[in-house]
Amino acid sequence: MDKQQQSKALQQQLQYWRRDFHQYPEIGFMEIRTASLVARYLEALGYTVYAGEEVMNREARMGVPDQAALDAHAAWARENGADEKWLERLTDGLTGVVGVLDTGRPGPTVAFRVDMDALEIQEELSPGHLPFDEGFASVNEKTMHACGHDGHTAIGMGLAKLLMENKDSLNGVMKLIFQPAEEGTRGAKSMTEAGVVDDVDFFIATHIGTGVPVRHVVAGNAGFLATTKMDVVFKGKAAHAGAAPNEGHNALVAASTAVLGLYGIPRHANGASRINVGVLEAGSGRNIIAPQAYLQIETRGETSEVNDYVRGQALSILTGAAAMHQTEVDIEIVGEAVSSTPSEALVDIISEVAKTIPYIDQVIPISDQSAGSEDATYFMERVKERGGLATYVIVGTNLAAGHHHERFDYEEDVLLTGVDLLFRTAKELAKSK
Ligand SMILES: [Zn+2]
Repeated sequence: MDKQQQSKALQQQLQYWRRDFHQYPEIGFMEIRTASLVARYLEALGYTVYAGEEVMNREARMGVPDQAALDAHAAWARENGADEKWLERLTDGLTGVVGVLDTGRPGPTVAFRVDMDALEIQEELSPGHLPFDEGFASVNEKTMHACGHDGHTAIGMGLAKLLMENKDSLNGVMKLIFQPAEEGTRGAKSMTEAGVVDDVDFFIATHIGTGVPVRHVVAGNAGFLATTKMDVVFKGKAAHAGAAPNEGHNALVAASTAVLGLYGIPRHANGASRINVGVLEAGSGRNIIAPQAYLQIETRGETSEVNDYVRGQALSILTGAAAMHQTEVDIEIVGEAVSSTPSEALVDIISEVAKTIPYIDQVIPISDQSAGSEDATYFMERVKERGGLATYVIVGTNLAAGHHHERFDYEEDVLLTGVDLLFRTAKELAKSK
């Protein structure tokens, strides 16, 4: 096969993987089928594969689904094509996979992170939506790859293939990190705490789309906000609203008091902040003093310092509001991410590499356009703390609808562009040290 045939074959392979993962989407900490197929493929290529608890710290996970949901999904995965051998190691919310290629020659350790999880969204099942038209729409109700992580997983596998095929021209160690539960910023901390990037000299996380147009690449995204996600339950005491209102402890009023307080948190002088109460459910009936209230809250900050401040204020308001109304409050942190900025030296290297790729027209070295939050920042910060360089690359593509939308879709050419850019970067980095 000549070069052109090779890249055509790789593009077809990437499309096949992407469509398969799209059709069988799995939400965070339940990517059992996906992760098992990744692990099997990496092993078949000749990678040393680590999975499950080897690459995840159980205690550092956040927002893990309950055991019944995990078990039910493991059964689903078994019936829907998961690899039997790997499945056992990927149950119980431990779905991370790391593949290591040691060239045996001195050189840097280069790590690439992709994520694997889908979202709890019902995919649009009507003509005009490509996954529906082409027959690879989600088979799982209210679960959809609506952020492109199906493509990220495919890019990780394609990169794994090219690195292995070209290992004789590489140096050092290549590490491919397949992260669970990026949505809700829940999974990366657990892999960081397990030491997955402690030996890494160069770290690159990748995302497609996010508003970056086709044939454009961002070599270093600097716009991520630090964030904390909380599930909050106020527990009061029910009583008859007519006969004995004085005997109740009103959780609905406590929660409402908290909501107004949360939106009154003063701004921080050192940067932008956000607060949102996305869900408030309370009460059990018209004539009952509400015994329970449930809230989903998130804070964000331009820097970790600002987010820590908003988070601290929020915790005081929640406990204060509970005390005011003689209720109890349970606060569970179900997701968190720090802020991070890309290492300029690494951004420069990737920018130069991107400029040599004929189908990339424009390279944006550093973009601080806010792209929400990302927990890849935990990896980035750890690598930088230990003297390495880290960045977050965005490969542009045109979108049919925005991220997290039921008609989300992207142009599949971006998969090959992503693999090519990362592979060329790996070759360049392998020359250093
Ligand atoms: Zn995403």
